[in-house]
Amino acid sequence: MRIVKYPHPTLRHKSKSLRMVDAELKKNVRQMFDFMYEHRGIGLAANQVDLPYRLFVLNLEGDPATGQEYVFINPEIHKRSGSAEAEEGCLSFPEIYAPVRRPDKIRISAFDLSGQEVNYELTGLFSRAAQHEYDHLDGVVFIDRLSPAALLSVKQALEDLEYEFQGERRLGIIPDDQQIALRLAELETLRT
Ligand code: ZN
Repeated sequence: MRIVKYPHPTLRHKSKSLRMVDAELKKNVRQMFDFMYEHRGIGLAANQVDLPYRLFVLNLEGDPATGQEYVFINPEIHKRSGSAEAEEGCLSFPEIYAPVRRPDKIRISAFDLSGQEVNYELTGLFSRAAQHEYDHLDGVVFIDRLSPAALLSVKQALEDLEYEFQGERRLGIIPDDQQIALRLAELETLRT
């Protein structure tokens, strides 16, 4: 597993609901937390490690010693209200930060790793981080939600990432679109 970066096609994949959580998936979740801490993130969605599942992890402290770890499986956002703007970044867009406007308050339900249903009313950073990760599961990334001016301000950085991606593809580090789609379809057959 590795964190995939923009413009990797899996970031645009609309993920499917999980129908089972097995030992392998639990290992994947552990590794997602480890990657997240290693890269100093506070959230990570399954698409970002090239997995086609409706699953994301959060730890708002970004630190296993102090923060609480949350696993959201098959999350649903039921209610959105208010509006707030704050700067966001994303581990799939290294070193790119920009202001994003989102609803401030949400009600979200999901299942945790033990299969228990959880419900939260969230505001502030917790709400923002959950909405950012939830977007990933639908193939939506935070640059899709930028104002035209904010998008313009990160344009060069995005082009640099595109250039880097094409280079890795030429070197065979990243497979072609068809191979990526095939692998995602196989993983979906297994667990969704
Ligand atoms: Zn992200």
